[in-house]
Amino acid sequence: MIRPMVNRDSQFFWDGTAAEELRVQQCNSCGELRFPPGPACPSCGALDRGHVVTHGTGTVFSYVVHRYPAVPGKELPIVIALIDLDEGVRMVGEVVDLADDQIEIGMPLRVDFREIDDDLTMPVWRKM
Ligand SMILES: [Zn+2]
Repeated sequence: MIRPMVNRDSQFFWDGTAAEELRVQQCNSCGELRFPPGPACPSCGALDRGHVVTHGTGTVFSYVVHRYPAVPGKELPIVIALIDLDEGVRMVGEVVDLADDQIEIGMPLRVDFREIDDDLTMPVWRKM
């Protein structure tokens, strides 16, 4: 399968999924949450960064159903959603165990965790 890139800015996120926590980066200077993670705060420019553990719940802002082309390690179709977390940040994720004609804008979702191997646990989303 295609593996996500893990670097200094995103290590905390993947450490979180391994612990079954959905973490979002937070600026230690102004408190703003941001996703995707990066070295500097887009609001205040501070480099001092931490994270919060979210509740792992959100709603569908938008979605696509991917039917073609093939994705290594995946059975198609897959449902990919933009999810507005209750904490106010938006992230992309795969919605599982839901027929591709069942997803709707505004649908409440809850995160779950899928252990791929010893080094990688992926967040996936399920209908609440
Ligand atoms: Zn800031």
